Amino acid sequence: MNSLLSGAYRGRFAPSPSGPLHFGSLIAALASFLDAKSQFGKWLVRIEDIDTPRSVKGASDLILKTLDAYGMNWDEEVCYQSKQLEFYQHHLEVLLNENQLYACQCTRKQIKALGGTYNNTCRDINLPLENQTIRIKQNHPVNQFNDTIQGKVLISQSFATEDYILKRRDGLFAYQLVVVLDDINQDITHIVRGADLLEPTVRQIYLFDKFNKNVPNFAHVPLAVAEPGFKLSKQNYAQAIDITKPQLALYDALRFLGQNPPFDLLNLKVDELIRWAVSNWNITSVPKVNEIQLVKDENSPQCQFLAL
Ligand code: GLU
Repeated sequence: MNSLLSGAYRGRFAPSPSGPLHFGSLIAALASFLDAKSQFGKWLVRIEDIDTPRSVKGASDLILKTLDAYGMNWDEEVCYQSKQLEFYQHHLEVLLNENQLYACQCTRKQIKALGGTYNNTCRDINLPLENQTIRIKQNHPVNQFNDTIQGKVLISQSFATEDYILKRRDGLFAYQLVVVLDDINQDITHIVRGADLLEPTVRQIYLFDKFNKNVPNFAHVPLAVAEPGFKLSKQNYAQAIDITKPQLALYDALRFLGQNPPFDLLNLKVDELIRWAVSNWNITSVPKVNEIQLVKDENSPQCQFLAL
C-alpha cells in the first residue's frame, strides 16, 4: 500500500553515541527526517549504544539536544539499545533453536591470514557455544537489493556469502542482529541512512527474512567524505555542528542532498527552514553516488561539495 495514503510510514535515525553530531551524521538525520515527514510519517530516534566500549559519556544527550535545536522533533520514546539485551538474547535463541547459528573459534588473525573473509569453516563442527563467536549460517545469501536512491545495488559474492557474526566472543551482540531486531520491534517501514551501510544491508535483509518479517524500504544517501574513501574524521569536518546556529549547517546539508535551497533560507527561523525543507523534499534529487567530498572554502560560510 502507498505509505502516503495509509499513513503507515515509520522511519528512524539511529546514531551511535560515539561523539556529538557532525555534518556527516546531520545528513543522515535530516534525510531520514524529511523523507518521513514529507510522507506524513513518524520519525523515531534510536540510540545505538550496544557497543559499550565505543560509547562516549554524555554523547546521547548531546545528540538529542542537537536534534531538538535543529528542529527535528522525534515521535515516540527514544529507544536505547543498551536496555534491550534480554530482547536480543531471546531472539538469538529463537534462531539457535531453528539450527540457524553455530559457534566459531577462528580468531581475527586467522581470518586475516585467509585474506580477510571468513570461509565458514566451523559451520559443521558443532563446537559448544560458550565463550565463542556466534555466526549465522547463510544458506541462501542475498547479494543484491533495490535502493530508492542508489538503484539496484550488487554486493560482492565473498561478502554476501560469509556467515557473519551475531554475537561476539566477548558477549556483545553484533550490530547486524540488533539493528534488525530494533527495526522490527519499532515497525520501521523506511530506512534512510548513509551509503557506508550499503554492504551490510544484504545481511540485514537476510535476517528480516529469517525472522519472517517484511523487509523495509532502503534509501542510502551519499556519505560525506574528507577525501575519497575516508569518512569524516575529527581532523577535518567532523567537528560538532553548531548548536547555536543551525541554519547554516541545515542549509549546507540541504545543498549536499541536492535540494537546491534558496539562499534566503538562512534568514528564517529554524522551524520555518525545516517546514520549507519538508514541503520541498524530493528524494529523486539526492545525488546517486556513494560519496561526496567536502571542500572547505575559507571565504564562504558554506562548504563546497565535490561529487565523486
Ligand atoms: N548506528 C549506525 C551508525 O551510527 C547507524 C545504523 C543504521 O542506521 O542502520 O552508523
